[in-house]
Amino acid sequence: MSAPITPRKKRRNLQSDRKARCHQLYSSDDVIKLYEISRNTLTNWIAEGLPFADAEMRLFRGKDLNAFHARRRKRASGPPLAPFMANCFGCKGTHSLIDGDISIHPGRTPGMFRASVTCPHTRVPANKYVCSEEIDTIRKLREANPGCETRD
Ligand SMILES: [Zn+2]
Repeated sequence: MSAPITPRKKRRNLQSDRKARCHQLYSSDDVIKLYEISRNTLTNWIAEGLPFADAEMRLFRGKDLNAFHARRRKRASGPPLAPFMANCFGCKGTHSLIDGDISIHPGRTPGMFRASVTCPHTRVPANKYVCSEEIDTIRKLREANPGCETRD
């Protein structure tokens, strides 16, 4: 019933986690040389979950992965911004009415307003016409948005 607990000799196999250069790509032979291991050991590492890229197919650079996930995190952290984007004639892009400094002016049509956000690139105002319900929503989203900049 009671199996003897033998101390495992795994520590012997542990490698430095600083041996590989973060920005380099390694072939199998490079890895074998770098860690002075056998091809079998590399096969075991792959079985244990060491990720690898097939050079003929896809390679992912570390900085691309980080940037991708930073963008996803930023998108996920706030409310959806798409409905409140103002078209910008300065940089030809769109700017969120939820971020940054906005001003709201009465429009020509009763009940409609011109929401204006300053382009961070060209400093020209980007406008979006919104109704009063939308202004309420924008105000609520801006209050809920922790990244919203304060007036200077
Ligand atoms: Zn712009």
